Amino acid sequence: FVNEFATLATPPDLPKLRARLLANENPLGIAPSAKEALVKAAEIGNRYCWMEFAQLKQLIATDEGVKPENIMVTPGSSDVLMAAAAHYAKNSDQTRPDRTGPGIILTSAMTYDDLLERASDFGAKIEAVPMTKDYKYDLNAIQAKLTPDVKLVYIVNPNNPTGTVVPAADLEAFCRAVAPKVPVFIDEAYIDFYEPAERPRLGKLVSEGLNVILARTFSKIHGFAGLRLGYAVAQPDTLKSLRQYTNGEFAVGVTTIMAGIASYKDKDWQNHCRAENAKARTYTTKALADMGYEVIPSSANFILFPIRMKAKSFSNQMFANGIGIQTREFNGQPYCRVSVGTMDEMAMFMDTFKKVVG
Ligand code: PLP
Repeated sequence: FVNEFATLATPPDLPKLRARLLANENPLGIAPSAKEALVKAAEIGNRYCWMEFAQLKQLIATDEGVKPENIMVTPGSSDVLMAAAAHYAKNSDQTRPDRTGPGIILTSAMTYDDLLERASDFGAKIEAVPMTKDYKYDLNAIQAKLTPDVKLVYIVNPNNPTGTVVPAADLEAFCRAVAPKVPVFIDEAYIDFYEPAERPRLGKLVSEGLNVILARTFSKIHGFAGLRLGYAVAQPDTLKSLRQYTNGEFAVGVTTIMAGIASYKDKDWQNHCRAENAKARTYTTKALADMGYEVIPSSANFILFPIRMKAKSFSNQMFANGIGIQTREFNGQPYCRVSVGTMDEMAMFMDTFKKVVG
């Protein structure tokens, strides 16, 4: 894992990049309806926002087919990930007399590692099962690795950084088989870019009482990466455990909550963002394929592909030309992960890419 933009000798002046394609943000910004709600909310910034909070929870609960007590609202989904890492790694420290086992977090290789790194800091052991040849989570292989020491299964769908998805029916069957034994955490940060008809609807598993934890964020299709809003959908008892590691739900301000409500209701804006993302993603995938690059088919707002030069040198040259990207390294093979920006930004990316790779 190489995250050069944090380790560059001279940190890049991010706002001056011509195209910021490194953090999977929404290049179109927040919905005009959300902006309007944000300004209006400022007028009631002096009041605690119990009502607005309840309204957001009710909206989400209705949409997911669960009860408001199945929802925990957080300032971004990272809070849910960090809470789960701390909670499920508990008792995994070998030196603690009260430990109940080695505390394994079971997941896939080539996935998002924030939760895993934090759990590892807390003493958990991470077991990452290789992906399938087509860069997908290998659910059968993961299920085969279940032991009583596994405290949590962590799945990212669509996955970051590969952009791949597992079929909804397979994921549902996996949850039904595994969740009665071990909690299954599904990080759905990028689910809104996935075609609605094909999406897994795992809220129903929560409503049936299964120990499935869904983590969602407004940072991606809603464009709230800076405003900070996310939530978990899970059993009330599980949420109570996770809440011990958070600052409490009122860590989110009324401006973000009210803008979140407006954005959540604004299906037209979400459809617009999804369509623009798909258009720019298809353009970039094709342009790279025309140059002979093997792009991993993505259902998210970024794409990953193997590159033919050293990650660091590639990244430095892209940044020097004003294009912010990220790189990864798996089994010695460097990859570029480029977030999907606007069509103009992707054209700039391709121009610079051609220059850099020669
Ligand atoms: N999960 C995944 C897979 C991500 O890629 C990210 C951020 O990029 C997050 C969670 C956390 O996002 P946030 O804390 O902004 O909700």
